[in-house]
Amino acid sequence: MARHKPAVRSLPFDTHPTALSAPLLVWFDAHHRKLPWRSNRDPYRIWVSEVMLQQTTVTAVIPFFERFLAAFPTIVALAAADEQRVLKLWEGLGYYRRARHLHAAARQLVASHPGELPNDPDVWHSLPGVGRYILGAVLSQAFDRALPIVEANSLRVLARLFGYRGDPREGEGKAWVWSAAESMLPQKRVGDFNQALMELGSLICTPTRPACEKCPLAAQCVAHSEGLQEKIPPPKRQPVITAVSEVGIVIRRGKQILLCRRPANAGRWQNMWEVPHAERIEGEELSVAAVRVAKELTGLTVKPGDEIIAIRHSVTRYRITLACVEATAAKGTFAPGFYTEAKWLTVAELADYPVSAPQRKLVNALVSARDG
Ligand code: SF4
Repeated sequence: MARHKPAVRSLPFDTHPTALSAPLLVWFDAHHRKLPWRSNRDPYRIWVSEVMLQQTTVTAVIPFFERFLAAFPTIVALAAADEQRVLKLWEGLGYYRRARHLHAAARQLVASHPGELPNDPDVWHSLPGVGRYILGAVLSQAFDRALPIVEANSLRVLARLFGYRGDPREGEGKAWVWSAAESMLPQKRVGDFNQALMELGSLICTPTRPACEKCPLAAQCVAHSEGLQEKIPPPKRQPVITAVSEVGIVIRRGKQILLCRRPANAGRWQNMWEVPHAERIEGEELSVAAVRVAKELTGLTVKPGDEIIAIRHSVTRYRITLACVEATAAKGTFAPGFYTEAKWLTVAELADYPVSAPQRKLVNALVSARDG
């Protein structure tokens, strides 16, 4: 049986790439945002910004980018840094695997190519965390290499422009959108062109109600001419949400609190710090769960107290309610098991350790309680 192929409309104009790139570049020159990573073509700055921008908005990234570059102005400085410092400066951006990969890749590059960031796709392709998007984004912007990029914004622009009716995020659609991006690359200013596609998606060709009247590609756009902007691309398939109930335990010994370090092979938040927490058994009382989880994760016998705060957060398709209780360490000493190490710290000292966003909310609540 013949496989279904999503329809690709032919363009209602001369498909020579300059028919698209020329007006897009004119628009980009006039309207692009002045962003800190656009101040020069330093491949290191571009690379850091592109890693940060994956899954994160431009507005959210700017302060993190500036702090990170102030701490690690060069790839050599980043490679020499302790991983805990890198994670601490990434704290709040989420997706910490990106930071660990960036750090590991910096070390690899400094060892193999001291003094330069090479204009060589093979070298970049071998680095941890560098996929087709990062490769194209860095090498096209820094060296004008003829490499395409596809991310959420450019994907939307390309699908609408060409009137692509399938899902460009999956299977054949994914291959189609990359080849469409490649087919449009101009001879010169490839990096600017790639940025222009993303910028157009971010500022004009927005997910809902795109401002087609301001779009430099409106005359050539299939979705615009057929009134299909809101239908292309199709909405993302939404995952089934699962509710999870967790207990977190603030174990106190005098004025100190036990903070534990997650292992390097933990599914998420690897090597970061936290108060012990785990899922509750269905129907389990909070105080019973606190005693059980403290014993299982730290080896300590605790006496549970009051609930301090309930923190709601999401991880992929899980909606987690983390109910945090106070407890005093009654018996035993910390025993590494799941956690690799632990420290008894004052509330003030908790600020120095990289923790996840929900754990930072808990720490903030502890700081407020101390000061309140
Ligand atoms: S004309 Fe409208 S739908 Fe088409 S690319 Fe421009 S903003 Fe997007």
